[in-house]
Amino acid sequence: MKIKFLSIAFMVLLYWSCAPQPGQDETSTGKTDTTNFEWQTEQFADLRILRYQIPGWDKLSLDQKKLVYYLTQAGLEGRDIMYDQNYRHNLEIRKALENIYSQYEGDKATEDWQNFVTYLKRIWFSNGIHHHYASTKIKPDFNEQYLQSLLDATETNLSPEAFAVIFNQEDSKKVSLDASKDLLTSSAVNFYAPDVSQAEVEEYYSKVIDKTAQQPISYGLNSRMEKDATGNLVESTYKIGGLYGPALEKVVEWLQKAVTVAENEAQAEALNLLIEYYQTGDLKKWDEYNVAWVQATEGDIDYINGFVEVYNDPMGYRGSYETIVEIKDFEASERMKVLMENAQWFEDNSPLMEEHKKESVVGVTYKVVSVAGEAGDASPSTPIGVNLPNANWIRTEYGSKSVSLGNIIDAYDKASGDSYLAEFAYSDEEMNRAKLYSFQADKLHTALHEVIGHASGKLNPGVGTPKETLKSYASTLEEGRADLVALYYLFDPEVVELGLLPNLDAGKAAYDDYIRNGLMLQLRRIEQGQEIEEAHMRNRQMVAMWAYEMGKEDNVIEKKEKDGKTYFVVNDYEKLRELFGKLLREVQRIKSEGDYEAGKALVEDYGVKVDQDIHQEVLARTEKLNVAPYSGFINPYLVPEMNNDEIVDIKVIYPDDFTTQMLKYSNEYSNL
Ligand code: ZN
Repeated sequence: MKIKFLSIAFMVLLYWSCAPQPGQDETSTGKTDTTNFEWQTEQFADLRILRYQIPGWDKLSLDQKKLVYYLTQAGLEGRDIMYDQNYRHNLEIRKALENIYSQYEGDKATEDWQNFVTYLKRIWFSNGIHHHYASTKIKPDFNEQYLQSLLDATETNLSPEAFAVIFNQEDSKKVSLDASKDLLTSSAVNFYAPDVSQAEVEEYYSKVIDKTAQQPISYGLNSRMEKDATGNLVESTYKIGGLYGPALEKVVEWLQKAVTVAENEAQAEALNLLIEYYQTGDLKKWDEYNVAWVQATEGDIDYINGFVEVYNDPMGYRGSYETIVEIKDFEASERMKVLMENAQWFEDNSPLMEEHKKESVVGVTYKVVSVAGEAGDASPSTPIGVNLPNANWIRTEYGSKSVSLGNIIDAYDKASGDSYLAEFAYSDEEMNRAKLYSFQADKLHTALHEVIGHASGKLNPGVGTPKETLKSYASTLEEGRADLVALYYLFDPEVVELGLLPNLDAGKAAYDDYIRNGLMLQLRRIEQGQEIEEAHMRNRQMVAMWAYEMGKEDNVIEKKEKDGKTYFVVNDYEKLRELFGKLLREVQRIKSEGDYEAGKALVEDYGVKVDQDIHQEVLARTEKLNVAPYSGFINPYLVPEMNNDEIVDIKVIYPDDFTTQMLKYSNEYSNL
């Protein structure tokens, strides 16, 4: 399962961004230096191209660096698989267009050429000619004649069928979930041959699947469904010697190198099982691998590699090729350690009623990793969190690994730039404070929310679980409770004392952000006339609105107008902290006592309804900023330094041009 949007403090930050910046020299290969790091390199169509850093790289041993390097190389060797899985003409089209791009010497100042380049970039971004998110076929802004002229000028071949689908109405949707049509014949995705229908596949699996199995394999996960000469369905398996064999051979070569530098036995064992799986295509092996992988929890390096998520299959059987290589986030781990060690102090000093405090509180662990490289389904568009494996019986018997991709979230945050801030912050003081501290304060908010917030408090004896007592309001109230714990401590001198924040100005920045977002900015994510549905959005408005209303008498938060624009400005941070504490105490009481009516009133009165005028204003103000809604990433390069045949070190280089990276990948990892 991939998590696309973080459910916590960063959620809205993901939608922040800045205006496009001028692209850099296309020939530059990138730098190792990260001062003045350019987080966003360009924006085109509905896409932004961002970059991320790999913190903690220098803390790794040489063997660990090698392990990361081998795993990222393994990932990239399978890059072409994703193109082919997405659509049967993708690779041919991509290669033809790349050839044009590299060879064409005609007029490049024309709009047609610009549109051609944009179309190619969109294909790279989506791993094919269908939109990565909407799944609709991307429409080129040039015509058949122009493409033909480019093909002729560069002596590039493109089959008539592939040429036609760029422009016609066929295969218009990659994944169609319209239940009124045949899911397979109305979907362009290449998990099934074009002549295979939904009914045929349903019939096939009704015979094949053993419904009594306690440990069922993931049927169909690693094969393409086709028809043989007599019209019977057959599975063409992704394995060495089978479909995608040439790519998987290369993947396995790198995985074998990875085994030699594994951090421990368990990790090596899992890698060996993955290799056997690619060699045999045996889905039992895939399960064995997942069991070993989920239990390999020691070490600083981890990875995802395989045919994993089934979202691209309208019938939910077949997995898309994906890799993510992860390094432990040492800084986040340190932060978590400090919070865990002080968890009892936070509980004892919280504003909860004494009878609702836990006598011995244990913080909740959450794992943050840094991405070192991604490929296939996870790149250029990436999830921000992943929870695997997907097989239910393995999750039940052996558990799962849940990670938050910290440096990706950081990059989204940093790339957010100042445009939203400039639009919604009232004063220079507020803006400067945000620029200095928001980043750090948000990280601490997340950590406090997860480690302390969700772990805090206890139910009264005999009261049912919140799901039973608070029903549909349970998750909004629980998220609100965790946010309030974080907010209460973000302006506490103790967090400065513990070295978690540099000073209390950082706490002020956190409060400004929360109020700005909860009362205004987050409204851009819903349509005019709609109420707030999503639990996290509800909780944020509930907390911010309650504090605004309750603090009115003392003017704690003030609604101001400047040049016809509305702002919410915090006047008194001490009092706001008191209000957060008071609400925390009440929300905990509601949870501890299972007080449904009070919980319902709180959510309905403050978290659901939208001020129509404010909403309209927010939509108008954010639309003007012209921020592309989707983002993807350029990967860093890991470059070995050799002494004769031996790797003596591996350096990280941060390239800054998307096109160069895509061409380099197509050139070096063209295995299909
Ligand atoms: Zn939460």
